[in-house]
Amino acid sequence: MPVADVLGIVGSAIDTVKKLREVEAKIANAELRNLIGDLNMALADLKIEIADLKDENTRLKVELKQEKERAIQSGQLVAKGALLYFKEPPPDKPVGPYCPNCKGNAGKLMLLEDQRTSGLGGFGDFHCPACDAWFKSSP
Ligand SMILES: [Zn+2]
Repeated sequence: MPVADVLGIVGSAIDTVKKLREVEAKIANAELRNLIGDLNMALADLKIEIADLKDENTRLKVELKQEKERAIQSGQLVAKGALLYFKEPPPDKPVGPYCPNCKGNAGKLMLLEDQRTSGLGGFGDFHCPACDAWFKSSP
């Protein structure tokens, strides 16, 4: 069940508590008033707990995505000269070339910019926008 739905249920439970308070005011029963107070506190705790779970869920989703990407990268990247290429690229990624510095230092997959026709060829053929390194074409 999505967190938004759970929060909706808690919200309507809180609305019900408000209506109970109105009824309680008419009949003025101390025991009923205490029970409504307990219920209200339990719902407030529940709301906080849901917010914590939502944060944890978001964090775990990010971690899982990063872990999946790492697994894909380490299993399928091959070096051609200094540069890295996918043997079989995932559907959402080009075959390469990728920066060996960024992969080695930060485990980051950075696609290199092809500068062979840019007139900046004195520096190299490919440029990394993240670490600013230049590379020659693979032999
Ligand atoms: Zn780089």
